[in-house]
Amino acid sequence: MQIVQQNIPLKKYTTLRLDATARYFVDIVDSQTVDDLPEIFAFIRENSLPYVIIGGGSNVVFACDVYDGIVIRMAPKGWELDESLQLTAMAGEVVTPLVVALDRKHHLPIMDRWMGLPGTIGGAVVGNAWCFGLDTAKYFHSARVYNVDNGEFETLSKADMKFDYRTSILKSDRSKLVVSATFDLSRDLDPDRYRDGVEFRQLKQPKGFTCGSFFKNPYPYYAGKLIDDAGLKWTRIGGAEISERHGNFFLNVDNANWRDIIALRDLAKTTVREKYGIDLEEEVRIITNPVDS
Ligand SMILES: Cc1cc2nc3c(=O)[nH]c(=O)nc-3n(C[C@H](O)[C@H](O)[C@H](O)COP(=O)(O)OP(=O)(O)OC[C@H]3O[C@@H](n4cnc5c(N)ncnc54)[C@H](O)[C@@H]3O)c2cc1C
Repeated sequence: MQIVQQNIPLKKYTTLRLDATARYFVDIVDSQTVDDLPEIFAFIRENSLPYVIIGGGSNVVFACDVYDGIVIRMAPKGWELDESLQLTAMAGEVVTPLVVALDRKHHLPIMDRWMGLPGTIGGAVVGNAWCFGLDTAKYFHSARVYNVDNGEFETLSKADMKFDYRTSILKSDRSKLVVSATFDLSRDLDPDRYRDGVEFRQLKQPKGFTCGSFFKNPYPYYAGKLIDDAGLKWTRIGGAEISERHGNFFLNVDNANWRDIIALRDLAKTTVREKYGIDLEEEVRIITNPVDS
């Protein structure tokens, strides 16, 4: 199939910028390639290929040199806002520019807390991204998905999505690709309640190549604080470092490889378990080579 590329470096498609290669790669960049999904999945079935979906690659770690399967990047762009303030955005719309455009074109500061979120709409829906009190579920209305199992495009309602802390049904059910999502922005329009996420991010989050919060917060604790209190801030393994500013952010500071990141992860988990008896659970998705697992 022409659309399927081979041996594609994934570095530029993930915010952690690790070296990994996709044996096969498909870039779904517009509605036309979305329509090709049934054909792409026929190819996948014929060749018995494992597959993985990425959006902005800002919450994934490719923990392998080569992914011996197919990486599908969901990057179709486009959005519209109707008169009743229903926003429909394609899965590949990057959240921050979309929020800026809603503000500039429609004077809708409603989603400003999402400012600075590097992922896509698809990724935000799947992981129920949360920014300073505003989670994706709040305004979510429905999602159009491609169902790999039956080859149909379907609509999932908010109830179908089973949103929870940093998760939705689609985080574990990987047979559905988000193609677009609709949000009802008509509710709760009180501009004073919305603050620009960038300000908070500048104070709290480090700059650099990272995949955001590595671990979920083990309620009522904060993963970052546990890692800080365990004395792990600034710990470096190879080219990877635990941020001095925020213990839950791992940085690629000097050509880190996936082994450095996984070694930091293991160190953080073991130390926090030994010191506090708490098991940290990854928020990021660790993607290993399917032939090794
Ligand atoms: C600097 C920085 C700051 C961050 N701040 C925050 C924050 O404030 N709040 C927060 O919640 N997160 C934050 N994150 C993490 C990350 O940006 C979010 O989790 C984001 O929603 C992930 O979106 P993505 O498009 O990058 O998804 P990816 O990282 O590409 O994928 C994440 C998961 O979603 C799946 N997926 C992605 N797109 C689709 C699709 N179209 N269909 C089906 N499955 C899909 C993938 O298979 C994977 O399981 C931050 C990350 C960074 C680097």
